[in-house]
Amino acid sequence: MTTSPGAPSGGQDERLEPRPRAGEAEERIYRSLTPRSARHFAESRRYLPGGDSRSPLFHHPYPVALAEGHGCRLTDIDGNQLLDFTGNHTALPLGYGHPDVIEAVQRQLAAGTCFPGTTRPQLHLARLLCGRIPSLEQVRFTNSGTEATMNAVRAARAFTGRPKIAKIDGGYNGTWDEAMVSTHPPAGFAPDRPDAVAASAGLSPRSTEAVVVLPFNGFEATSRLIEQCRGDLAAVIVEPVLGSAGMIPAQRSYLQMLRELTDKHDILLVFDEVVSFRVSHGAAQEHFRVYPDLTCLGKAVGGGFPLGVFGGRRDVMAAFDPTGPGGPLIPHPGSYNANPISLVAGATTLELLTTQAIGRVNTLGQTLRDRVQQTITDAGIPAQATGLGSLFGIHLTPRPVQTARDAAAADRHLLTALFLALFAQGVLIDPRGVGCLSTALDEEDIGEFLTALDTVIRRWTAHPSTV
Ligand code: PMP
Repeated sequence: MTTSPGAPSGGQDERLEPRPRAGEAEERIYRSLTPRSARHFAESRRYLPGGDSRSPLFHHPYPVALAEGHGCRLTDIDGNQLLDFTGNHTALPLGYGHPDVIEAVQRQLAAGTCFPGTTRPQLHLARLLCGRIPSLEQVRFTNSGTEATMNAVRAARAFTGRPKIAKIDGGYNGTWDEAMVSTHPPAGFAPDRPDAVAASAGLSPRSTEAVVVLPFNGFEATSRLIEQCRGDLAAVIVEPVLGSAGMIPAQRSYLQMLRELTDKHDILLVFDEVVSFRVSHGAAQEHFRVYPDLTCLGKAVGGGFPLGVFGGRRDVMAAFDPTGPGGPLIPHPGSYNANPISLVAGATTLELLTTQAIGRVNTLGQTLRDRVQQTITDAGIPAQATGLGSLFGIHLTPRPVQTARDAAAADRHLLTALFLALFAQGVLIDPRGVGCLSTALDEEDIGEFLTALDTVIRRWTAHPSTV
């Protein structure tokens, strides 16, 4: 086994000759399996920068082009069958094309896709969500998680009259300007005061000034930073499980500390549960027993259709109420806001996502994490399997992963090799090494994943020079 230059090494790595690049054999096999995806990528690049409209889907050497999904099985345009552990990056907790969701959507399609008026599906899903998540007194619907977090933060600013927000180093809360600050911190231990770094070109120059960056699970530094900036802070926004940074759960006491500090200083606590919603019937806040002022949802709550939700305290949400004399404090237009197609797909999904269904898939998730950890480390490869419930992250690093910086310090080249090697075995995870389980999976499917992983790891240990 070899690791890429500069990556942390451990175990038997030092004994082996360095290789030019991890994963060359995997790349060759991937290319041989996906010639149509390769041509599709080349053609798409003529019309779309990078051949696509969703940056994180890109991976070396080119992304797979997908044709169909049913349950937990995907087919790409070359005809490869893939056992799916992405659920479109956590958006499909029931798997692809659940018949009940399809039926509900077809019924709604026949009735109409969008209207210039409110609808019964809107009331139904709002009631369902407020019943399910007790911290939600009122909600509003958007078309994406990005719009949900943006509106929640706007509401917090309007409510407190303060200008800044605190967000997590390496946390991802969507693509509006301040959310795109410090989404990809460099590797290494989180410093006591992480810089606010623009993660994209083209942000408003004031974005970084408006953001205080907190180290995830970093108790002392977080507490000091909040105390220092308390007079300026409208909100602290945090993912209870850091999602795209690697499925890293917060420590319960960290969330509790955030709750106490924000209460003490009249700062609003916002949970971004776009990814972590699926962890428990009442979202991750129920699992951690820490309740925010505002919650943002997306992905799974739309059951595979575009939907975002933000909501929480009635006094904060009142800013969106247009019935007062001056109209709403915060206007919230949107041509497809609360479109009934997404709402019926979401409601049907939530009705099927019962406590029992979540419990079953969470147990499968725990088995998967335990066995992944064991399989990789037994082979002498340093690894950490993180996650919670049906969410998992694989980090090829010897150090425990508590922050996005710990995750960024892992061996990325080897991870790409693992992603490509699993693909060749018929298993799809997110190229960033994260994934999730849908209720369409059963024990046998988990066994299939573990056999695929075992095959890859055995080959790597038997022929380390090919990796
Ligand atoms: N918050 C989190 C935690 C997310 O993972 C995402 C999407 N990956 C978003 C917000 C933004 O959601 P959307 O892609 O629907 O805009």
